[in-house]
Amino acid sequence: MAAVGTWAFSLAAVERVRRLMAAGSGATHCVQEAMAELENDKETGCFVVGRGGFPNKAGVVQCDAAIMEGLPGRFGAVAALPGVGIPLTVARMVMDKNTHNMLVGEGAAAFAKEQGFSIEDNSDMMSEAGLDAYEEFLENRKSTSKNHDTLGLIVLDHLGNITVGVSTSGAPFKDPGRVGDSPLPGCGLYADNRAGAAAGATGDGDKIMCFCPSFHVVQLMKQGLSPADACQSVIQDICHRVGKKDIFEIGLIALNMKGEIGAASTVSFPYTFWGYGMEAAEQRQSNPHTHID
Ligand code: ASP
Repeated sequence: MAAVGTWAFSLAAVERVRRLMAAGSGATHCVQEAMAELENDKETGCFVVGRGGFPNKAGVVQCDAAIMEGLPGRFGAVAALPGVGIPLTVARMVMDKNTHNMLVGEGAAAFAKEQGFSIEDNSDMMSEAGLDAYEEFLENRKSTSKNHDTLGLIVLDHLGNITVGVSTSGAPFKDPGRVGDSPLPGCGLYADNRAGAAAGATGDGDKIMCFCPSFHVVQLMKQGLSPADACQSVIQDICHRVGKKDIFEIGLIALNMKGEIGAASTVSFPYTFWGYGMEAAEQRQSNPHTHID
């Protein structure tokens, strides 16, 4: 059993997974429950996640979220979803109950409503910090926010099943209807029970989606690379393609079927993530940051 989550703020989710797994929960249930707690907390919205996340240009919080199981590769996603504080749970319902795999905007909200969610007013989705940032954006007419956070969580359970989830309110002050990398299979997340799972869970989604980094990490793990080497190799590959001066923010986490954990990123500060095997959660960093040739 093992889990890994993006950034320091995922500690609560990783700890929750540990308790759920101790009680016998499977990987998908753990991902959903643990992520819902953080998504729904206005305080963690400043990490570009769920309720309290940054709004779009029109002042509306629209969330992207997706979930993927490694066996045999089931997937569900929502994008540009308004009015729901736990978008990952709606993504799971899309995976379990809809004939389609991804629903967006008003269509996603209509499906959520059918499933018993109330679609809340935007004012309930906004935090004070989000409102202040939006007012600043309106004054300057450009985003001063450098925030790229996003919650990604990968869980390997006692039966050897692996599930990955990703949730974000997306790029701050994005165009209404903009969809980032996070809910796209292969880009924001990918899982394959024969190798492991990855989340390309953080950074500039408009750039990230061009490189299918999560799929790439999983393919490299299938060829025998460790999660850390696979993440590092994908970052280097992207860097070689776009050139060092045009490199953008991206952070990857990965977990293989042996329970080994890895991460890499292009951020110029230590990229922190939380992981645990059988024992207590341990904070780790891709140290000091991924080496880029
Ligand atoms: N990668 C996400 C997106 O671009 C969110 C972020 O990290 O800013 O939608």
